[in-house]
Amino acid sequence: MNPDPQNKRVIIHVDMDAFFAAVEQRRRPELKGRPVVVGGDGDPFKRRVVSAASYEARTYGIRSAMPLREAYRRCPGAVFLPVDFEAYTRASEEVFNILKGYSQLIEPAGLDEAFLDMTAACGGVEEFGTSEVRERFEQASVIAKDIKKRIREGTGLTASVGIGPNKLIAKIASDMNKPDGLTIIREEDIQRVLFPLPPSRLWGVGKKTAERLKSMGIETIGQLAGAPAETLMDAFRKGIGQGLHEHALGIDESPVITTWERRSMSREVTYQWDIRGDTRDMKVIRETLSLLAGEIAGALRQEGYRGRTITVKIRYHDFQTVTHAKTIPHYTDSRDVIEEGAVGLLSAFQWTKKVRLVGIRVSNFE
Ligand SMILES: [Mg+2]
Repeated sequence: MNPDPQNKRVIIHVDMDAFFAAVEQRRRPELKGRPVVVGGDGDPFKRRVVSAASYEARTYGIRSAMPLREAYRRCPGAVFLPVDFEAYTRASEEVFNILKGYSQLIEPAGLDEAFLDMTAACGGVEEFGTSEVRERFEQASVIAKDIKKRIREGTGLTASVGIGPNKLIAKIASDMNKPDGLTIIREEDIQRVLFPLPPSRLWGVGKKTAERLKSMGIETIGQLAGAPAETLMDAFRKGIGQGLHEHALGIDESPVITTWERRSMSREVTYQWDIRGDTRDMKVIRETLSLLAGEIAGALRQEGYRGRTITVKIRYHDFQTVTHAKTIPHYTDSRDVIEEGAVGLLSAFQWTKKVRLVGIRVSNFE
């Protein structure tokens, strides 16, 4: 047998269940079992979107990124709460402190999920047959159960865990039995499990790519896997076509990266409606900057970065994109400092055209 280290790994993906909403329910026990929607400043009549919905809220069809107003229409009895990144960042640290006890090889993927490379812990990358693979995955599932238990006991929150031979499969697995799930996809299960799913479950397949694939008659991962690689490379940029083909076959060689050097941290929002740079809508833009600054500050702290250059990006309705930046005297990971810097840059932009996107980037790290 040909041992391919990248296909013989044991990867665990830990994904916290409805994280923001669960943190809110944890500190306000009276909200347990009730539909909770976290988004904007907690006012469902403002033009902001859902950041997280508890599972009780999801039964009403409420989803992340849905306008708060629509969430309210679906469940007026839900509890609407403001986004509190400070609290979620602290809770995230609690979870990561637990995860660090299991592997040195941890890659955070946001505040509420992480990949753990458990290959070494489960016997290393030796040449082995099917029975050893089974055994390694059994070991990993024991570890996964322990991780879930410690998270539950240590934080009062639940996580769904997926185990697979690579990151792509582990992430698909963790998503299969939410909440509080534990799902193993072994290499021999990949086709049976993956092929019936829609291509949107794969990395990098957004709405646009999914629509494009549909127009080509491709509506499942199995059909995608069956499409000739050349056809995909013709239809998409070469690298993307190749990636789609490999991912559809469950192949993912990307390593679990713990210490790569990030150069910048950015967040942006595309409005559902183009908005004007008039006084009323400037308020919306300022609110957006405040939200984005909070997200960036949380992510910077999570990953241990501080930056000195703040850039604001505006894309107008005609897709013209303009950025303005400024460098401040001290390195920062503070929401208030980032927000103040970003708001200060607004006067550098022209506000004669309608705006479709606003973003902030922090760079020039310590
Ligand atoms: Mg999650």
